[in-house]
Amino acid sequence: MFCTYCGKENPNDAKFCNACGKSFSEDSKPNSVQQTAPTKSAAEPTANMAIASLVFGICSIPTAFLAIWFSLLCAITSIVLGKISLDQKRPGKDYAKWGSKLGAIGLGISVAFIIIYFVSIFGALAFISDLIPSLSR
Ligand SMILES: [Zn+2]
Repeated sequence: MFCTYCGKENPNDAKFCNACGKSFSEDSKPNSVQQTAPTKSAAEPTANMAIASLVFGICSIPTAFLAIWFSLLCAITSIVLGKISLDQKRPGKDYAKWGSKLGAIGLGISVAFIIIYFVSIFGALAFISDLIPSLSR
C-alpha cells in the first residue's frame, strides 16, 4: 500500500509508514489506499498553507506585469507561508518549496519593474529639465 502522507510504498501489513512514520490505522483508509496510486490530493487537507504558498507564488509572476503592488503582496505572502510551513514541518513540503521559489521569482520581477519605472521617471525628469532651459531661450 501507499502512504497517504508521503506517497511511499509500504508493506500491506505495515502499521506505520517506513518513510514518514505516520500511522496507517488512525485516519487513513486502507481500502482506497491499496487500490489507487498515491496522488498529491491525498496531502491536501493538511497541506493548505503550503498550497496557499504555491498559489500565491504562481499569482505573483503574471501580476508583476499587470499590478506590481498586488504581485509584491502575493510574492511576500507566498514566501512567508512557504517559510512557515517548512519551519513547522507541515505537510506539502514540495508545494511550500515551489511556492517560495515562485514567490522569489515574482518578487524579483516586481522589483525589476519598480527599478525600471524609477529609472524611466528620473530619466524623463532629467530630459524635461534639459528641455525647459532650451524652450525658455
Ligand atoms: Zn509516509
